[in-house]
Amino acid sequence: MSALRGDLHIHTCLSPCADDDLTPVSAVGLAKLAGADVVAVTDHNSARSLPAAKAAADAYGILLLPGVEVNCAEEIHLLCYFRDVDTALRFGGALYDALPDFPYDPAIWGRQLVTDENEAVTGEVEKLLTGAVTLTLAETARLCRSMGGVPVPAHADADSYSLFSVLGGWPMDADFDLFEVKFPDRAEKLIRAGILPDGKPVLTNSDAHTLDAVASRMSTLEDGNPLLALL
Ligand SMILES: [Zn+2]
Ligand SMILES: [Zn+2]
Repeated sequence: MSALRGDLHIHTCLSPCADDDLTPVSAVGLAKLAGADVVAVTDHNSARSLPAAKAAADAYGILLLPGVEVNCAEEIHLLCYFRDVDTALRFGGALYDALPDFPYDPAIWGRQLVTDENEAVTGEVEKLLTGAVTLTLAETARLCRSMGGVPVPAHADADSYSLFSVLGGWPMDADFDLFEVKFPDRAEKLIRAGILPDGKPVLTNSDAHTLDAVASRMSTLEDGNPLLALL
């Protein structure tokens, strides 16, 4: 498969911190309008926007890469991508079991809306999805791979929830094949300094939480990128 371009990190109304009007259908549609070949919907610790995203992707003629952004026990975000929606949903189910159960008030954190392919709200998630799961970064990566997925450290150079902010850089024992960055200039410095690894594919995505941010940044998947094998 030749190089593909797309926004591979988009939140939807399922994430409490994202706008309620950013449905999976609108996320996929906006990516298509922006000229993307592929789009990934990656909500915090849940895959429940993916069935609607898949229906929209099929209707609009764009590839969907099913994803989840896990908040691991260390408070490091790990994007986990899968071959199909059902596998991502099973992975999301395991994450849900590993989330803390404490009183969650949508008025404080935001609503967590499950929507269908017609953008109708079909449910709300009860546990707060932005909490950290009990699985560590290594355990989450292992679970993702055991289900045929590809784990990708999210915004690895960012000031929060990242390898850089939590661990100070790339873990000695990490075997991730690629990573995502937030600030390309800073990431380049970190790579030159050996804090992030050289020679691996690097993604840059929108991490959209609002409609206007969708596809504002896109990644190019060149030949050999392990994510291409999932499409
Ligand atoms: Zn994140
Ligand atoms: Zn995110």
